[in-house]
Amino acid sequence: MPRRKKCRWVSVDILPKKGGETELSADEMEAVRLVDVEGINQVDAAEKMGVSQPTLHRILREARRKIGIAILEGNNVKITGGDHIMRKFKCYSCGNEWDEPYGTGKPDCPKCSSNNTGRIDAGRCRVGSGRGKDGGKGSGRGRGCRRNE
Ligand SMILES: [Zn+2]
Repeated sequence: MPRRKKCRWVSVDILPKKGGETELSADEMEAVRLVDVEGINQVDAAEKMGVSQPTLHRILREARRKIGIAILEGNNVKITGGDHIMRKFKCYSCGNEWDEPYGTGKPDCPKCSSNNTGRIDAGRCRVGSGRGKDGGKGSGRGRGCRRNE
């Protein structure tokens, strides 16, 4: 027979609240996805994101703090564009290619205003991708991240 769980003391209010909004940047969410969700170590995750391990650690610490606040205060988490991660788009009407930061949705072509555009990087950092457990492992191809320096 399974043993009964021992009670634990908590000092937080666990009733659901109607909260506001906590903003998480795309690079913070990506760090959490790689390290906490996919279980990749910080050295490899930093390499995937094109940042140093101390920088990844800093991003991750801030992300976890914000997620904690969001849970405690019942906030919705809003993903905003990070400074470091860009997506690459192509216009299929005029062939124009450009980088676009996260959080802007699918853009129209800045050159000819066509909406016949598509993302041409691998989407490794795609926000909200429904990838499986092993997704993103083992393949170094087509990294979509670009640092914006
Ligand atoms: Zn175009």
